[in-house]
Order: sequence, then C-alpha cells, then structure tokens
Amino acid sequence: MSKAENKSPYQIAQEQFDLAAEFMGLEDDLRCILRVPKRELTVNFPVRMDDGSVQAFTGYRVQHNVTRGPGKGGIRYHQNVSLDEVRALAMWMTWKCAVVNIPFGGAKGGVVVDPTKLSLRELENLTRRFATEISPLIGQDGDIPAPDVNTNAQIMAWLMDTISMHTGHLESAITTGKPLGLGGSLGRSDATGRGVSFCVAQAAKFLNMDLKDAPTVVQGFGNVGSVSARMLHDLGCRIIAVGDVYGSIYNPKGIDPHALVQHMKKTRTVMDYPDCEPVPNEDLLEIKCDVLVPAALEEQITAENAPRIRPKILAEGANGPTTPEADKILFENNVFVIPDILCNAGGVTVSYFEWVQDLQSFFWDESEINHRLKLVMDSSFQAVNERAQAHKIPLRLAANILAIERVAEATRLRGIYP
Ligand code: NAD
Repeated sequence: MSKAENKSPYQIAQEQFDLAAEFMGLEDDLRCILRVPKRELTVNFPVRMDDGSVQAFTGYRVQHNVTRGPGKGGIRYHQNVSLDEVRALAMWMTWKCAVVNIPFGGAKGGVVVDPTKLSLRELENLTRRFATEISPLIGQDGDIPAPDVNTNAQIMAWLMDTISMHTGHLESAITTGKPLGLGGSLGRSDATGRGVSFCVAQAAKFLNMDLKDAPTVVQGFGNVGSVSARMLHDLGCRIIAVGDVYGSIYNPKGIDPHALVQHMKKTRTVMDYPDCEPVPNEDLLEIKCDVLVPAALEEQITAENAPRIRPKILAEGANGPTTPEADKILFENNVFVIPDILCNAGGVTVSYFEWVQDLQSFFWDESEINHRLKLVMDSSFQAVNERAQAHKIPLRLAANILAIERVAEATRLRGIYP
C-alpha cells in the first residue's frame, strides 16, 4: 500500500487501465472483461520445518488474462505478498506480453514468506508443496511461472521437477528461468537487465543525450538491478549510487558494478563496498543523476518524493515502482519515463524464447538470443515512443493503449463463449 496515496498496487493497475481505456474509447464490454483477473487461486498449505514442526503458509496464483496464450509471470517469495499485489502484477504481465507482442497472457504468483529465514531444505519443501497446490493451473499450454523477487533458477528447477513427478515425464516447458542443464535458455538470467539497457540506449538516442559518463543511480541490486547496472556501465554510464534492502552506497566518481557483484557474492549486500559513503535508502532516488533505474519493489516513487526526482531518463526495471500521482509530476517535469511493461520486458521475451526452445527441444546460441531480444525491445520501444509523441502523452499511457488494443482485438475475434 502506498503510504503517500493509500492505494494498493491493484488499485493502481486498475487506475492505469481506466486511463488508457478512456483515452482509446474502449467498449464497456471489454472494459469489464479486461479490468479484472480471470482466475485467482489462494492456497493455504503446511510445510515440515527442520526442527520437525509444521508451519502453515499462504500462496497465490492469479491469471489475469489468457486470451492471447498461456498465462505467464513470475513467482515471488516475500513477507508482504498479498492477493492485491499478485493481481496487479498479473495484470501488468498481460500488458507486458502484449506490448512486446509475444503470444502469452498474464499471470503471477507469490507466497507470503521471508525466505531468508528458511534453510535450503525448508525452501525446497515449501516450493514443492506450493507447486503441488497450484498445479491445477500450471502447464506448458496453460500457465508458465518464472523467477521474481527472491526466487531463482534453482526454485524453478524444483517447481518443474515437482510437476514432472506428477505427470511421470519431464515437463521442461512448464516454467522458464530454469538452470541451463534443465532446458533453461542462454541469456535468460541477464535478459531483463539487458532489455533495460537497450531501452535506455534508445531513449538516450531519442533525447540526443550522451550516455558517456552519465551519472546513474540503481535501486535494488538483485537480478534486474545488478545486470542493469553492469550493462549501463558497459554503455558508458557512471554508476554513482546503488541500494538494496540493507542500505545504499554513493561514490560520485563511480562504482564498478562488476566488482560490486563480486563483493555481493561474499557479503550478500552492497553495503561496505570500498570508497563509498552510506546513504539512507529514502534518499537514494533523490540523488541528482541522468539515469535512474528503480529495480526493487512497487510504489517507490510517489507524489511525496516525485517533485525531487529529476533524472533525464527513468527506466523502470521493477514492476509498478511509480504511482499515478507521481507519473503526473514526472511528466510535467519532463522526466522521460520508460514504463515497466516495456522497460523490463526483456525477461519475459527471453522466457518466451526458452519456452519455444523447450517445446522444440532445439536450442539456440546466445548471440542469436541476444540479437532477437534486441530486435523485440528496439521495435517495441519505437512503437510505444511513436505513439506517445504523436499524442503528446506519457509512454506508460501509450504502452498501455498499444497492449490493450492487442488484447481487445484478440478478445473480439474469439468472441464471448458460449
Ligand atoms: P531480486 O530478489 O533478485 O532483487 C531484489 C532487489 O531489491 C534486492 O537487491 C533487494 O535487496 C532489493 N530490495 C528489496 N526491498 C528493497 C527496499 N525496500 N529498498 C531497496 N531495495 C530493496 O528480484 P528481481 O528479480 O531483481 O526483481 C526486482 C524487480 O524487478 C521486481 O519488481 C520484479 O517484479 C521486477 N522484474 C523482475 C524480472 C526478472 O526477470 N527477475 C523481470 C521483470 C521485472
């Protein structure tokens, strides 16, 4: 829930939808279909802990829309997961898959758990039981999970193995973001951050801005944040500040994200990295910079702090980092916001490539994957930006309109059953 605006992520996702539906004059029938999730499953389930006790957990799998293809979306393990958060994330997945025009619908899952408090064995038990509980929805043609906050390739391997045990044969295409040895795709682990860097490069070109030495701030140093930081550094950006859940660090001369990744492997946090001063997390996003990448959680940029956030490019690595009120302020202040459903779509795009490779049991080399990813990201950026400039509207609204048009068209063509 955004403290500043008192809205849940789901209310925000619906508000963004309403804005686009209104702008494009979408029919009422389609508004009532597309505004809410198609299926929601809540599961309460027990897990045997290492000390022999049993603990109860709650999890969710929500399919927002499956008109254009199987539900697609990550699974999040976090103590603050709620049904409303999962609904919002599922809805954003529908628009994300449509904006990059891949044949998937939108879904998302989550378990209310702080996984840092579990042993590896408990994490495996929880994952296998959760996979079993949501298995009625999961399948290569129905719903395909992937990693999200606090989940990774190992968790996807356990999930895939559990479903395969139920069917009695290998079901490699039921999840993406798997380890390479199990049908994972080359390039998948870097794909989201790589896509962020492609979008930033396109935005800089459009704005006539030189990325060489451009001061850059990244919030979150997990999968998306660390890869975005590395790729932006490799494009010439100067990473001056980085933060994670434990705190933030600042060095105006620049932080080498490749070396920071090595530091993280030892300490599990960015804190105490040499030659940096600590910064409170609340101040990180307000540090003066040219490129800002929020890559942690939702509702970080609100009406409260948006007036003090003035990068030239705001590239949303995270899902839902900006509230609608903040969006208005950023637009008035000429901040070029690359919206989440476009900016972080590199991950789901390579997940699509992984699914295609698994279905065919035919694997591509990494240069082909990165090349195809660039084609998808660059053309999607161009399509969204052209629409935004033509109507003088924010890129988020343009991206939502483009995505809703595609899902609405598929819905009209399929018709209402029966
Ligand atoms: P992750 O678990 O790998 O990393 C999350 C990072 O955010 C960690 O560094 C963590 O310390 C930090 N963090 C958490 N809470 C924070 C807080 N309150 N303040 C500052 N930092 C905080 O997760 P990820 O996969 O990198 O996902 C990050 C975001 O990107 C999420 O919004 C996710 O939905 C989105 N996303 C992920 C992918 C993907 O492929 N993994 C794809 C698209 C979008």
